[in-house]
Amino acid sequence: MRAMIIRRHGGPDVLEPAELAVPTPGPGEALVRVGAVSINSYLDVTNRAQGVHYPGYGMPQVLGSEHAGTLVALGPDTGTDIPLGTAVSVLNSIPCRQCAWCVRGDEASCPHVQIMGVTRPGAYAEYTAVPVMNLRPIPEGVTVVEAAGMNVIGPLAVEQLLAVDARPDEYVVVHGAGSATGTMTARVARSMGLRTIGTVRGDRKVARLSELDLFDELVDSTDPDVLQRLQEITKGHGADIVIDNIGDEELFGLSTAALCAAGRIACSGAKFGGEVRLNLRQLYSQGQRIIGVRGSTQEAKDRFWKLVEEKGVRPVIDEIHPLSNVADVHRRIEAGLNIGRPVVTID
Ligand SMILES: [Zn+2]
Repeated sequence: MRAMIIRRHGGPDVLEPAELAVPTPGPGEALVRVGAVSINSYLDVTNRAQGVHYPGYGMPQVLGSEHAGTLVALGPDTGTDIPLGTAVSVLNSIPCRQCAWCVRGDEASCPHVQIMGVTRPGAYAEYTAVPVMNLRPIPEGVTVVEAAGMNVIGPLAVEQLLAVDARPDEYVVVHGAGSATGTMTARVARSMGLRTIGTVRGDRKVARLSELDLFDELVDSTDPDVLQRLQEITKGHGADIVIDNIGDEELFGLSTAALCAAGRIACSGAKFGGEVRLNLRQLYSQGQRIIGVRGSTQEAKDRFWKLVEEKGVRPVIDEIHPLSNVADVHRRIEAGLNIGRPVVTID
């Protein structure tokens, strides 16, 4: 089968075409013909550039984590009733199902988790072999491209909003509003009845994002009056919730300054360093909370797909390219040009 692999870390040029054997699905596994794979700034781009920290990481690698396609064959002992030929979305993380966290149902915290395209061969290829438990039939009306663009970040957005006990009409500030997770969080938060405020760097991105009708309000985080803007938008109330998947110290300072009493911050990423200043006196005296969210529970996954079916939640898809152009897509993300999720298709 055709695939794109890396043999070492480096710039987008380290991505190279390769001919690989079609994988054989083992016990409990399925063979999926890949239709689309979404390109993730951490699991794909950072992974290619310098690697990401998971046990069992090695080279060479077939990248590509979040994907969707068609179920074409089953290994032994799958016990599944999904018929061959079904369009399926593939979850990218494979928990061990044996450790203390997995046994108590918290598979998102499994320290032995395997990730497709990181510690197992990924989806920059015509086929993947994955546990059948990772498959979910794609609902009618959802394309393979859309499924690949939301099957990980959609449930993560729900998990974050559940973790902070989000309630309708609360003000949620979403940092990195134009990113794949930012745009997805906006769609999910709106479908749950929250008031959405997005922050982006620079007024050019504000203008591009405004056209998409994702956020009730958008602010430029580089504007010196941004805190005052947030206070005006929330009519002096402040932010009930901040979703920070950025990890930038200055932006975190804005989050805590804008947070209201009993406000909550959820964090699922720290691409911009992750070291921040925190005033514990403010935290306890105002009853505020900061919550790290790593992945999504089964409950969040089920709730997300219900929002897809009942509220029409879909991802913002940036550009769609063939697999042979995947290096250009990496360049696009590195240049910060994407709005929403870029997707690569395999035909
Ligand atoms: Zn486990």
